Amino acid sequence: MRFDIITLFPEMFAGPFSHSIIKRAKEKGLAEIHLHQLRDFAAGRHRKVDDYPFSGGAGMVMMIEPLARCLESLQKEREYDEVIYTSPDGELLDQPLANQLSLYKNIIILCGHYKGIDERIREHFITREISIGNYVLSGGELAASVIVDSLVRLLPGVLGNESSALSDSFQDGLVSPPVYTRPRTFRGWEVPAILLSGDEKRIAQWKNEQAIQRTRQRRPGLLDE
Ligand code: SAH
Repeated sequence: MRFDIITLFPEMFAGPFSHSIIKRAKEKGLAEIHLHQLRDFAAGRHRKVDDYPFSGGAGMVMMIEPLARCLESLQKEREYDEVIYTSPDGELLDQPLANQLSLYKNIIILCGHYKGIDERIREHFITREISIGNYVLSGGELAASVIVDSLVRLLPGVLGNESSALSDSFQDGLVSPPVYTRPRTFRGWEVPAILLSGDEKRIAQWKNEQAIQRTRQRRPGLLDE
């Protein structure tokens, strides 16, 4: 899967994209991530990318020309399945949406900054707007990192154990059951005996019951769906 990320702060991605699962996915050629500095598409000596909002008000707005130029240069190269804008008022990212997007081949993710982008870009270029939660971030870079991470771990071959993304929370409409590792006893705190019983069938049943119980307590909305 190929990601083209448009941003004013490409350096912000250095951390999230160069470790652990995303790093491995890139090395294996399963994910390709291209960062595009929006300023490179700005005109003039000052490479201006933002301007005052019409009618006044607080904050700057990302200008239409550099964005249009950057988007068009990418779209000239290849067909994109989706042109995503990260936005607090977008569709909320959840596991079903991540699953759906992970089937795509090429996506663009546009990161906003300041007060956001000129609305006409949203009207004429953006095919999907995604929010990572009902709060406001300073920019779309953290949101884009979250989106990329949630998609990349779903790509076939990325996770060592093929089934491991499927057993994560939300994949079956339930949150995960609790997990334990050695030692069996720590300060007198015991691992549930059932997990040491070796009885595969009863263990599976216990995990399922725990998942349902936790979902009822923590995410009752999932059970209604
Ligand atoms: N004035 C805007 C917020 C701008 S925040 C408003 O009130 O809606 C600056 C940029 O950060 C946005 O353009 C967007 O790209 C990004 N952003 C902020 N919060 C986000 C969120 N919850 N999810 C995804 N992107 C977000």
